[in-house]
Amino acid sequence: MKKYEIYLDLDGVCIDFLTSAFKIQGYDPEIIFAKWKATQPGELFPTLSIEKTPLEFFTNEALGEENFWRELKAYKWFSLLYTELNSFGNVMFLSAPSGAPGCLSGKHHWLTDYFGANFSEYIFTKHKDRLAHERAILIDDMPFNVSAFKARGGRAFLFPRIWNKLHSICEPTGYVLSNVERVLKG
Ligand SMILES: [Mg+2]
Repeated sequence: MKKYEIYLDLDGVCIDFLTSAFKIQGYDPEIIFAKWKATQPGELFPTLSIEKTPLEFFTNEALGEENFWRELKAYKWFSLLYTELNSFGNVMFLSAPSGAPGCLSGKHHWLTDYFGANFSEYIFTKHKDRLAHERAILIDDMPFNVSAFKARGGRAFLFPRIWNKLHSICEPTGYVLSNVERVLKG
C-alpha cells in the first residue's frame, strides 16, 4: 500500500485552462502571457493586459459550456508529472468546479476521454482543504489552496506558474517532483 495520498489539481497544473480561456474571448494568448510576464509576474490576473475584470473574464458565458472544458489541452509535462507522482503515492485529481454545470461535466469528460470510461480517481470540490491530513500532499497552482491545505495539517506544494510567486521557475515539473520526493524521504 502506498503511504501518501497525492491530490493533483487540474487547471493550471495538468491542463492549460488559460490559453483556451483567452482564445475563446478573443485574446491572443502569446501576447497576453508575454505582457503578463513582463509587467505583472506573480499577479493572479493580468489587469494591465486585459480590460475585463477578473469576474467578467471568469464568468464569461463561453466558460460555462461543457465542450470548452472537455476540449482543453493538457500541458506538455502532464504525462510525465502524472506517471512520476504515481510512483510516489496514490494520485487523485482534485479540481474545483466553477459553478457552471457544463464545467463539472466537461472536466469529468476530459478525464474519461483521457483515461477511459471507468476512470474514477477524481474529486470535484472547491473545498480542497477538507482533504488535508498528515500523509496528504496537494499540488496546486493557487496560493490560497496551498495555504488552506497546510492550515489543516496537509503538505502542499505550489506549482510554479506566471500567476504565483514561483513565476521565475521555468521547469515546474522538475521543481515540484524534487520537492515531493524530499518530503517522502524525510
Ligand atoms: Mg489550478
